[in-house]
Amino acid sequence: MPGFEYFGDIERKEVQDVLDTGVLMRYGFDGMRNGHWKAKSLEDELQNVLNVKHAQLVANGTAAVTTALAISGVGAGDEVIIPCFTFVASFEAIMMLGAIPVLVDIDDTLTVDPEAVKAAITPKTKAVMPVHMCGSMANLEVLKSICDDNNLLLIEDACQAIGATYKGKYLGTYGDVGCFSFDFVKTITCGEGGAVVTNNSKYAINADYFSDHGHDHIGNDRGAESHPVLGYNFRISELNAAVGLAQVKRLKEFISIQKKYYTVIREALASIPEVVFRKVPEGGEESYAFLSFYLPNLEVARKVNAAFKASGIDVCFHYYDNNWHYIREWKHLKNIKTLYPVSPQVKEGLKYLETKQFEKSDHYIGRNISCLIKLSWTEMQVKERAKLMVKIIKENI
Ligand SMILES: *Cc1c(COP(=O)(O)O)cnc(C)c1O
Repeated sequence: MPGFEYFGDIERKEVQDVLDTGVLMRYGFDGMRNGHWKAKSLEDELQNVLNVKHAQLVANGTAAVTTALAISGVGAGDEVIIPCFTFVASFEAIMMLGAIPVLVDIDDTLTVDPEAVKAAITPKTKAVMPVHMCGSMANLEVLKSICDDNNLLLIEDACQAIGATYKGKYLGTYGDVGCFSFDFVKTITCGEGGAVVTNNSKYAINADYFSDHGHDHIGNDRGAESHPVLGYNFRISELNAAVGLAQVKRLKEFISIQKKYYTVIREALASIPEVVFRKVPEGGEESYAFLSFYLPNLEVARKVNAAFKASGIDVCFHYYDNNWHYIREWKHLKNIKTLYPVSPQVKEGLKYLETKQFEKSDHYIGRNISCLIKLSWTEMQVKERAKLMVKIIKENI
């Protein structure tokens, strides 16, 4: 995955342009900036690369998810259905707006189970937010039809899957709004950055307002601009955008390297009958940011994971025992450990977490190992790695 592995002259040049003018802010200062609009240019580039009408850059992926929800009208007391295998940003963003995260099971795609989504819909449900974890996707066609039938928004968190496609569309552009992160470990990086994409021009204008204190950005006197709505400061800086502008041009190259290395490891692991690969919905093509597979049971997965670590097979994750991405260890959410009072609605809305079991997800996450595909490996290293992984798995099955 990580674009940070490829930081070079192109990135340096874009950053130098900004340093030469000294205009670190994305708006205004037209006279001083010598024609450089890095954030604006990166938005244009994202629109072209992802084939989507509107892209709004923001400060990070968490801000992107918050913005996506806010601009489509999700707020106090609304329920948003998300998978229980995700990143903490999903529920952070929802709760930031006073809405209620409703966590449901995943299936063998490692993304939200459409049947679990259906079962969780209530009169308060406003949106479904699948999270395209580890470079692959949820079954968007089924989710879209559930959303259409129930008049719900479909918001895609594609932070971990830029460049993957579903039925000919880039992830993030299939639903009503999509989100990306360009943090340091994502496929392309700005250092810190994020983007919201949509084909809905009303949401696009809302995103422009919301991410910059509600400014309407009309005219060239910032102090005279009016505020059609309340917003926040979720702006990206020109320095961060400059890095992303260099990186986005290399997205196709990054994906093709990932695909090559992923394929070498996958073909090696496929020789072991007990290894089953993560399901990719029909019509989907992964970004190859990760290779994810299932082992026969939790015990084997734990043993293989430990043996990988001991043998220097790094960047493989067994999320079952990990605090990062799975509900099991999120005690701070289950106990609502906030620094400030939360609304009675949210408190009441999260009560289900005291008792809810995620057996189906435990079944998949318990057996899953996801391995990051790094761009900086050599072909020789990938082959050796694949051979060693096969040996370790065979020894522990
Ligand atoms: C990284 C990530 C985010 C948040 O992005 P940041 O830029 O780190 O705030 C949100 N969702 C998912 C699935 C992510 O992987």
